[in-house]
Amino acid sequence: MIYKNTAVYNAGTNENLFGASAKVTAAVTEALVTLNSYPEPDATPLREALAQKLSVRSTQIIVGSGSGELISLLVQAYCYPFHESAILSVRPTFPLYQMEARDFGVRYEAISLDSSYNIQVDDLLYAVNDSTRLCFISNPNNPTGSCLSVADLKRLIQELPAHVTLVLDEAYIEYASSPDFGSALPFLQERDNLVVLRTFSKVYGLASLRVGYMVAQEATIDKVKQLKQPFNVNHLAQIAAATALQDEDFLQYTLQETATGKAHLQSVLDKLGIQYWPSEGNFLYVDAGLPARPLCQQLQQQGVLVRLGEDSFSLRITIGTKKHQDYLHHILKTMLTPSH
Ligand code: PMP
Repeated sequence: MIYKNTAVYNAGTNENLFGASAKVTAAVTEALVTLNSYPEPDATPLREALAQKLSVRSTQIIVGSGSGELISLLVQAYCYPFHESAILSVRPTFPLYQMEARDFGVRYEAISLDSSYNIQVDDLLYAVNDSTRLCFISNPNNPTGSCLSVADLKRLIQELPAHVTLVLDEAYIEYASSPDFGSALPFLQERDNLVVLRTFSKVYGLASLRVGYMVAQEATIDKVKQLKQPFNVNHLAQIAAATALQDEDFLQYTLQETATGKAHLQSVLDKLGIQYWPSEGNFLYVDAGLPARPLCQQLQQQGVLVRLGEDSFSLRITIGTKKHQDYLHHILKTMLTPSH
C-alpha cells in the first residue's frame, strides 16, 4: 500500500513542492539491489562529499535521520543532568526545540522576536543563565522567514557565554537571498561550541528519506556521535543525498521556481488584502486578519493544508506551483467575500 498525502496543496510542511531530482530517483532505483545489506555505519562517502563541498574535514560532520534526529541528540549530549539544564531559543520558531526539551524534562526558555520578527541579540544574551546549555536559532527562522543580520550573527557567536553551545539551524539556507544573510559555517573555528545544522528535506526535496547533517568542531561531533545509532541513515537515503549534492541544475530549478512562486503568492495575498512578512525561506508568514484556526480548518476541507502560527491570526504557507496558488486564491476569495 502506498501512503500518499491527498491534499490538493500541502502548504503546511515546507516540503519542496517542485519535487526531487530525476538523477536522485534514478540513483535510488539503481541502489534497490542493495536492500539486503546494512548501510555505511557513519555515512562516510556522503560525509566526504559534504566535506569537499563545504571545505571542512569529514570528521567535522555527522549525518542524521533528518536534522530532527540531530536536534534530539544535541539535547541528550549537552543538557545533562536534564532537570538542571535549560534550552534557550526564540518565539515563534521551529517547535521541535521545545518538544525535545519537554521530552527530556529540560527547561525551555524563549525570548519573543520583535514586532518585525527580528531577534534582539541583547534580549537573547540577557536571557542566558547558569543552567543554559544550548541555544537554538533557526536562521532563516521557521515560521517567520526572518534572519539574523551578519553583524548580529557575529555578535552572537562572539558574545554568547562559553558554557552555552550555539546551534544555528540552517534548514532553509539555500533559499536565502538577502545580501545581509550569512551562514555560521565560516565561524566554526572562532567558537569551540558552535554547531551548524542542515537538511536534505527542503531544497533537495528528500523529506521522505530523512537525511540531515551537522557540522562542528571534532570535539562536539565526537560527543554527539557517542549517542548516535550506527545505522541511523539508510543506504538509499545516503545515495540520494550524495547524488542530490551533485545535481546543481535541480537546485537552481528549485530556487528559480520558488522565487517565481513566492512573487506569485505575494501578488495573490496583495489582491486579497492579506499581510505577509519578507521571507528568506520557501514559505510566507501571514497575518490572516481574522482568527486563523477556523480559516485553517476551512482551507483543509478544501484540500489546502497550512500551518497555524504562534498567535491567533498567523498562518504559515509553503510556496507551491502557480496552479496550487491559483487554487488557494480561488478558495480564499470565496471564503473572505461576505455572502449577500
Ligand atoms: N529545522 C527547521 C528550522 C525545520 O523547519 C525543519 C523541518 N521543518 C527541520 C529542522 C527538520 O528537518 P528534517 O528533520 O526533515 O531534516
